[in-house]
Amino acid sequence: SGHSEEENVTFYSQDMNQGMQERMRLETGLRHALGHGQLLLHYQPKFALASGRIIGAEALVRWHHPERGMIPPAEFIPLAEATGLVVQVGEWVLEAACAQAQSWKQAGLPPIRLAVNVSAREFTSALPGRVSETLARYGLEPSWLELEITESTLMHNIDRVIGIMDRITALGVALSLDDFGTGYSSLSYLKRFPIDTLKIDRSFTTGIPSDSNDCAIASTIISIAQQLKHKVIAEGVETVEQLAFLKSSGCDEVQGYLFSRPLPAAEFERALRENWGL
Ligand code: C2E
Ligand code: CA
Ligand code: CA
Ligand code: CA
Repeated sequence: SGHSEEENVTFYSQDMNQGMQERMRLETGLRHALGHGQLLLHYQPKFALASGRIIGAEALVRWHHPERGMIPPAEFIPLAEATGLVVQVGEWVLEAACAQAQSWKQAGLPPIRLAVNVSAREFTSALPGRVSETLARYGLEPSWLELEITESTLMHNIDRVIGIMDRITALGVALSLDDFGTGYSSLSYLKRFPIDTLKIDRSFTTGIPSDSNDCAIASTIISIAQQLKHKVIAEGVETVEQLAFLKSSGCDEVQGYLFSRPLPAAEFERALRENWGL
């Protein structure tokens, strides 16, 4: 029934070719995008629960494709990670975030922390120097910057990774552990990482308050963070029930659609002014 073996082979290789062609188109397109101003950053506010103030923002990259419109990072970051192009994307993102911070600083906006996502492949011994050089070039205090890294970054050579982390935190740049609880990092290593903030992954936030496992995981992460003297932020907060649970569990900061989607720079600036009563 159906196709013969031979036909199936042809179908599969055609599918594969199409997949590869699409990947190659994306890769060529992304290289081009980097050099032609097609990447941009949106900023999602982070709120301190105690004060209700916006104390930072996560910079999230977008690709404005001339024909295909706005391409979300989920469609090109994994490919960029596979090809190594993510290193150049990361350089662009750090540069753009610092340029934006400088302009907000010069406009007299309150000092906030801009968080930049850093993937494992960018987390090399060249990173601390690049961060320090970029901050200096834009005349920015290190307190303007935060790097979000995921557990997968910590899986490779631990001692080497800790060395890089130490050099970054020595600059005064904060480090947060993104998507916490979704990877495999061992709790025994957690105490060795010079981390400022643990970030509860959206997959746990989503289940609050109806899923008792997600509630247990979220409050456990909060208590681990408290005992290790780290701050803790929950991402993906969409409902007032989630907010209430997180607040009563002692979470420090929140981020999510309940407060704001990631915003273009000008809109973020307006939200920041309004939130601070400026
Ligand atoms: P992430 O670091 O976990 O970022 C959070 C993602 O959740 C963002 O998606 C954000 O828009 C989305 N989000 C925030 N609040 C909510 C909410 O309340 N509900 C829901 N459903 N979603 C929410 P985005 O911008 O599409 O980014 C996706 C992923 O792409 C990021 O996940 C991050 O891993 C990666 N990414 C984005 N920008 C960069 C970058 O500059 N460099 C690197 N290496 N990765 C990046
Ligand atoms: Ca992140
Ligand atoms: Ca995250
Ligand atoms: Ca996440």
